[in-house]
Amino acid sequence: MSTANIGHWIEGKVVAGTSGRTQDVFDPATGRVTGRVALADQAAVDAAVASAKAAFPAWAEMPPIRRARHMVRFLELLNRHRDDLARAITAEHGKVFTDAQGEVSRGIDIVEFACGIPQLLKGDYTDQVSTGIDNWTMRQPLGVVAGITPFNFPVMVPCWMFPVAIAAGNTFVLKPSPIDPTPSLMVADLMRQAGFPDGVFNVVQGDKVAVDALLEHLDVRAVSFVGSTPIAQHIYETGARHGKRVQALGGAKNHMLVMPDADLAKAVDALVGAAYGSAGERCMAISVAVLVGDTAERIMPLLAERTRTLTVRNGLEADAEMGPIVTRAALDRIGGYIEQGVAEGASLVVDGRGIVVPGHEAGFWLGGTLFDHVTPSMRIYREEIFGPVLACVRVPDFAAGVKLVNGHEFGNGTSCFTSDGHVAREFARRIEVGMVGINVPIPVPMAWHGFGGWKKSLFGDMHAYGEEGVRFYTKQKSVMQRWPESIGKGAEFAMPTAK
Ligand code: NAD
Repeated sequence: MSTANIGHWIEGKVVAGTSGRTQDVFDPATGRVTGRVALADQAAVDAAVASAKAAFPAWAEMPPIRRARHMVRFLELLNRHRDDLARAITAEHGKVFTDAQGEVSRGIDIVEFACGIPQLLKGDYTDQVSTGIDNWTMRQPLGVVAGITPFNFPVMVPCWMFPVAIAAGNTFVLKPSPIDPTPSLMVADLMRQAGFPDGVFNVVQGDKVAVDALLEHLDVRAVSFVGSTPIAQHIYETGARHGKRVQALGGAKNHMLVMPDADLAKAVDALVGAAYGSAGERCMAISVAVLVGDTAERIMPLLAERTRTLTVRNGLEADAEMGPIVTRAALDRIGGYIEQGVAEGASLVVDGRGIVVPGHEAGFWLGGTLFDHVTPSMRIYREEIFGPVLACVRVPDFAAGVKLVNGHEFGNGTSCFTSDGHVAREFARRIEVGMVGINVPIPVPMAWHGFGGWKKSLFGDMHAYGEEGVRFYTKQKSVMQRWPESIGKGAEFAMPTAK
């Protein structure tokens, strides 16, 4: 089997790495090396930023409706190539193909949103703030902006950033995860086919070296980051110190509260899908089930049975419910947490370690893992595991459940399963978490609502995409004008159009 060399995308074409540093890319289902990705040095980052900087003036000057038309063409291409992108995601990430298709679709939602940029950039206007004086605001692009993204959504998370940034008139440098770099180049090629001028969208592959070069670069005006909390904090602090606008979305420990009056069959389906879907490698995965009152006694047998019978396979196989873990290192880390949970005294109800997937013996496999009697002092409760491990905590009542969720350092997503409208309303109002689901396990907001957690799950002021995204990628200007009497320009007979 051939091993692909995966390069950068600069000035409208693939550029091979010259740093001499590379990283192996794996198919996690087979454990085989399928590619070798370039790791950028300062020179590659400088070249990408220079290309984006050169493209900026003309791109920013183009009327928003014409920028939106480029986005519409890109949208058509994305729809046409949705399955190609999904296959590329599964090949390097491991998630099941239908889940990868869903990921691409959720990215496409943001592109659709960005197609409405003329409406989103409209300013406010006040006629006659004083006699003969008007005042209005407009939003202008920042310049070159960068996006640094995690391995777990190699198409969707970049789409949280670049469609809005570019439609708003900025030019973009993406630094994807080196674990699954191929989809970023496919997206770049679709941008080229859609007619975006060279330099508007660039990709530098790499690691900390590339990230730090972007954070310190004088020509990068803003940085969007999605990844783990320690890195998010580093990005936020370093970017701010270098005078940049920064939004840095971090890790999570998402709780789902199950009330005694919840429909238990639906709650089990929701928990299993949200805890083990994408092998738990989602920032909105449910990793803690908070079982209220006598719920635990009734739900645990159902949950254990469903966890034991999960179909774990190569994500390209049609019946796979869960694919492999992304890397050998991640598999070892998650295994370490399972050992830790046992050592701390939690009950290991289902142990996913040691499963064998026939024909894929060298893949990075772990089955669904279920702990009961987890307590808030345990590391498996406090820390983000980012794998298919569900920790069940028992609480006596609703108030104790809310207190537990609010006491956690993360505040990305949460959910409450109940049949009581008042409980649902109280939960949504009292919970200190950025994204809340009521009988919805993974409440990822739609494109026009914006995505973001609270507490250690987000550093910065603005959520990703939606109107907050538009505000993040633009700066407001206020204009006040007074004119002497106008001089007539003569008649115009043709319908005025954008030029
Ligand atoms: P990660 O933090 O390891 O990497 C994210 C990005 O930062 C990658 O591009 C990586 O190359 C880069 N990076 C890694 N180490 C760095 C360093 N020392 N200095 C500078 N840059 C560095 O995250 P990951 O493992 O790729 O993704 C999983 C994490 O992302 C989880 O914590 C998950 O919760 C989080 N995540 C959060 C959200 C959200 O919206 N809040 C969404 C998706 C993923």
